[in-house]
Amino acid sequence: MSESDRPVIFKNGLVLTMDDAHTVLNGDVLIIDGKIAEVGPGLTAPEGAIEIDATGGVVMPGMVDTHRHMWQTAMRGYGADWTLTQYFVWYYLESGKLFRPEDIYAGNLLGALEAIDSGVTTTVDWSHGLQTADHADAAVDALEAVPGRFVLAYGNIQQGPWEWSTSDAFQDFYRRRIDGGKLAGFQLAFDIPGDPAFQEKAAFEVARDLGVPVTTHAGVWGVTTDDGLRLMYENGFMTPGNVYVHAASLSSDSYHRIAATGGSVSVSTESEQSAGQGYPPTWQLRKHDVPVSLSMDTSVWWSGDLFSAMRTTLSADRVREHMEAHGKKETVTHHQLRAEQVVDWGTRGGAKALGMDSSIGALTPGRQGDVVLIKNESSPAMFPVLNPYGHVVFQAQRGDVDTVVVGGKVVKRDGELVDADLTTARAKVNATIDYLRETMGEDAWKRGMNPEIPEARILHNPYQYTK
Ligand SMILES: [Zn+2]
Repeated sequence: MSESDRPVIFKNGLVLTMDDAHTVLNGDVLIIDGKIAEVGPGLTAPEGAIEIDATGGVVMPGMVDTHRHMWQTAMRGYGADWTLTQYFVWYYLESGKLFRPEDIYAGNLLGALEAIDSGVTTTVDWSHGLQTADHADAAVDALEAVPGRFVLAYGNIQQGPWEWSTSDAFQDFYRRRIDGGKLAGFQLAFDIPGDPAFQEKAAFEVARDLGVPVTTHAGVWGVTTDDGLRLMYENGFMTPGNVYVHAASLSSDSYHRIAATGGSVSVSTESEQSAGQGYPPTWQLRKHDVPVSLSMDTSVWWSGDLFSAMRTTLSADRVREHMEAHGKKETVTHHQLRAEQVVDWGTRGGAKALGMDSSIGALTPGRQGDVVLIKNESSPAMFPVLNPYGHVVFQAQRGDVDTVVVGGKVVKRDGELVDADLTTARAKVNATIDYLRETMGEDAWKRGMNPEIPEARILHNPYQYTK
């Protein structure tokens, strides 16, 4: 029996099944032939099973990220101080076109390794740097080199979506690499700024013909507004399975349309909090009964850490509730949004958003064996575990991800990735950085990373304690 064919059993963990009833139990999770076979206390490990001691730890489904620009991982942290405007100038106008296929590969490889290391077993690669089919091949090559589940959301910011999606090269790529390929899914990724000419119609028709969803940055302040969604709606393209990313500054009418047409919103709270798309929208989405999933957006600015996504999303929702109440001279005495719900959004919510709810997102028999063990015996933050949802959201972090299993294959064990070639990933990313730096020139490189700080106004303070 080869290593990847062996059954896997997690023993004696606190199991968050994320099933319909959100069952929590002390017990075991057994994976046979890549799928969850049984969940419960005192299970018997079949002969040859890989046994993982989950005592003191939390066992949960692999997390799902529904929007990550993985090619940008090569530039990790570079844009920490950017606004959305500065991001657009850097990637869309000035430097995004410099990226070669090997640079897409480098970013995707690092991003994919980072995802599985962090307990994110399914990631949507919102890949909008695919200037040629060679770039797209490179993106898929990298995703296929890492044992996670990846959905390719195909995009190209250097052309109108009506151009690239209707090209022979795109159609040929789809037939060669996607149709019947190894990836977990495929989406078209483009934005709709709201031009009444609605040229995006051609790209929507391509998505419809292929039978794939569209993922779109919607409700981005000053960029994609209610007008874009209205055009989609009026032309019959707000359809089930579409994912609306951010949706942070939309009208009530647009939220109703998303909910009524079977769409969902991918909330990237770390992103919305600093780029300026609008307030992280869960406080609105809850009111409008819009399904929610979570995402990290891009590591060029923020973390690729779904624990942070859950934490910031819960906190942002609560601070909004408090501030809205204070505005009415009221006090919030009970929180609407619970830690349990954001854990659901980070697992099951993502599975539903991707149309994969029957196969991932929960630990129930028959679903894929995508399982994460959070356990760290050398961390004082990892005991006691009293409120498991609260612990996952506010106490745990990426370094506490002890074991990750994808489709029954152990990809991380005892806190270390299994068979991951970080040396190669590092060399490829370094080559990309050297190339970009040399091509841009040192001045442009430094200017891009260090945006000017506008002058701040300090208020006159009338209280003077010293003369
Ligand atoms: Zn994005």
